[in-house]
Amino acid sequence: MADNKQTDKLVDRFGRTVDYIRISVTDRCDFRCVYCMAEEMTFLPHAQVLTLEEIEQVATAFVSLGVKKIRLTGGEPLVRREVIKLIQAVGDLDAELAITTNGSQLESMAPQLKAAGVNRLNVSIDSLREDRFKEMTRIGKLPKVMAGIDAAVAEGFDRIKLNAVVMKGRNDDEVLDLVDYARSKGIDVSFIEEMPLGNISEHDRAEVYCSSDEVREIIEQRYALQPTTERTAGPSRYYRMADSESRVGFISPHSHNFCSECNRVRVTVEGRLLLCLGNEHSVDLRATLRRYPGDMEKLRQVIIDAMDLKPEKHEFDLDDEPQIVRFMNMTGG
Ligand code: SAM
Ligand code: SF4
Repeated sequence: MADNKQTDKLVDRFGRTVDYIRISVTDRCDFRCVYCMAEEMTFLPHAQVLTLEEIEQVATAFVSLGVKKIRLTGGEPLVRREVIKLIQAVGDLDAELAITTNGSQLESMAPQLKAAGVNRLNVSIDSLREDRFKEMTRIGKLPKVMAGIDAAVAEGFDRIKLNAVVMKGRNDDEVLDLVDYARSKGIDVSFIEEMPLGNISEHDRAEVYCSSDEVREIIEQRYALQPTTERTAGPSRYYRMADSESRVGFISPHSHNFCSECNRVRVTVEGRLLLCLGNEHSVDLRATLRRYPGDMEKLRQVIIDAMDLKPEKHEFDLDDEPQIVRFMNMTGG
């Protein structure tokens, strides 16, 4: 239809259709992963954070504009009080629902998540050694996360994927173990190149950087990886192994720029609609939500107009000072 307000699709200036949103539901977390957070973090005052109802309105507006996949993330989404109410509401929308979690709450919450309509789970796990897991997360308990993964597998989600950030000298010797663990559970695993988000003084990102090509070479020492054309609306490139249902994915923001295919935007915990993970272009949805409570048309129009701000590509450079001062937990990884 000619009237922009009736548009049911989000298309940016470069012809990319946006049909995937990632929403950060909290900046808080019960872990302090070394690449994600500083040891001492100051979290946002509650008034600055979108309420569960506001997040639901945002999700509803996006689905009415053609979004087909919603990922709830954080921070640790499952530590937000009463988050299950939000998950149920978003689970009722006509879109695939995925959650990214550190797994700490999964052992008890997996059945509720399944019942609420969650289709996919990503569980972050960077090490299978208890002491190392503790070192990398500063707080996390590996057996708890593994029990959570087992509980999720037992629920039979459409897809479960492990996410591991690979760091040289820290966990690159566990790449094959992580692949074998995923195979033993019949789930997928993706390896992530660390991104320079937020300045963490005690952590030198360039020193531990490990490219996806290096990770792939390690895996190919044991398993032949067959490239697939499968995509999951996200930036992972997937490979299959001949003798397993498990897929191996690579998320490579440095070595394989995926911007030309970018179909997603993010909503930060403060309700900032972020058009690109590697840039600051954004629109304040919270202002609209609070100025015009319940006005879905206003919200939809602000989102439609925001598409013109989506930049062509991100600029990440490990050698320079990070240009992005946001931390991943604010942004929603
Ligand atoms: N707390 C949940 C978790 O850990 O899965 C969800 C939020 S977390 C920010 C989402 C993902 O981002 C995790 O897989 C984490 O490993 C990854 N991540 C965090 N900081 C990162 C960084 N600087 N570079 C790359 N990945 C990062
Ligand atoms: Fe928490 Fe996830 Fe960040 Fe780790 S990566 S500190 S679990 S938000």
